[in-house]
Amino acid sequence: MINSKLITYTKLSPNHSGMRTHAIDRITPHCVVGQLTVEQICDCFKSTERKASCNYAIGTEGRIALCVDENKRSWCSSSRENDQRAVTIECASDTKTPYAMNDKVFKSLIDLCVDICQRRNKNKLLWFKDKSKTLNYQPKPNEMLITVHRWFANKACPGDWLYERLDELTVEVNKRL
Ligand SMILES: [Zn+2]
Repeated sequence: MINSKLITYTKLSPNHSGMRTHAIDRITPHCVVGQLTVEQICDCFKSTERKASCNYAIGTEGRIALCVDENKRSWCSSSRENDQRAVTIECASDTKTPYAMNDKVFKSLIDLCVDICQRRNKNKLLWFKDKSKTLNYQPKPNEMLITVHRWFANKACPGDWLYERLDELTVEVNKRL
């Protein structure tokens, strides 16, 4: 299956580069800076003038939406190279630092990471908390890496709230893989 079975809403964005040129071996979670529903998040990416998108959106109610097919390159992380190989996920968050996410969003993010890894035959999610180590690492065929937007642009994304919980997220995902 190309896309996650966990999606309950689909609104495809025109903002993408077509098929990926690199196999998926990264997941990049983002904070959308607003406690938005999946409909509202997808609406942010419907205009071609915005030149932004994501593969999946997780709304403040915990629902998961598809915005760009998983096998296509979204425009999300300010890095062509990262977006070619990463599944990008915009998550509803507060509008101010630390851009906190609620429990439903965090739980859905864990569920979605498990689903992506399982469908891509990855049984190990890795979070190094270190930009150069991560970007220089060659993942083994069974490994998936977490990367963060702040490594590629002068942004807080995914916010300190999620950044400080990526260890916990990784432990929870790996328990289920
Ligand atoms: Zn971001």
